[in-house]
Amino acid sequence: MPDERIFVAEDETSIAEVVALYLRRAGYLVQTVADGESALQLLEEGFPDLLVLDLMLPGMDGLALTRWIRDRSDMPIIMLTARRSESDRIAGLEMGADDYVVKPFSPQELVSRVRAVLRRTTQHEMGEKPIEFANLRIDPQTREAQIRQMGVFLTAKEFDLLYWFARHPRRVFSRQELLEQVWGMSEYIDPGTVTVHIRRLREKIEQDPSNPEYIQTVWGVGYRFEP
Ligand code: CA
Repeated sequence: MPDERIFVAEDETSIAEVVALYLRRAGYLVQTVADGESALQLLEEGFPDLLVLDLMLPGMDGLALTRWIRDRSDMPIIMLTARRSESDRIAGLEMGADDYVVKPFSPQELVSRVRAVLRRTTQHEMGEKPIEFANLRIDPQTREAQIRQMGVFLTAKEFDLLYWFARHPRRVFSRQELLEQVWGMSEYIDPGTVTVHIRRLREKIEQDPSNPEYIQTVWGVGYRFEP
């Protein structure tokens, strides 16, 4: 945990300062930027371990930045948003944010989220062997997945979700159970998050995402992995 680097991109100085203060107290190395272009410049010099990203930034906004990052890296992103509308949150998650926090938030809650996201994404699952099915191979050590012999790019959370399913074939999980098992902080996260991630995962691993072979919907209950 020490020496993990976090960038904070937030144009409201008072928020940026308090977030940086709490993260530094928690032992992280923090750099702050106040607009989209500066964030981009900093990222071009190298990705941190996590990015706290305000959705509404001057210059390049949070969604555009997330899209730029996701073309290059699965670095964890926690989005800050003043918007309460479901569609904006869903958009952030669809772009590939790992989590989001709605303003106003408690800095301590943000630190907990940062810890949780880093814990999930830096677990190396040492000693765990790859899981193989007919057309799907999942390697927890390298956190890589292959579908029909082709590598598939998954975000940290998509990988965690797929790996969870693969370890529990045919078992049905509700969205709430998946939030608890894969996200770990169900009380803060909307179950719609699960739906978004399932859809993105299907788009990446299924030949026909509207008629999935692997991740099947069990109507009224949840989802099941069929190897
Ligand atoms: Ca802002």
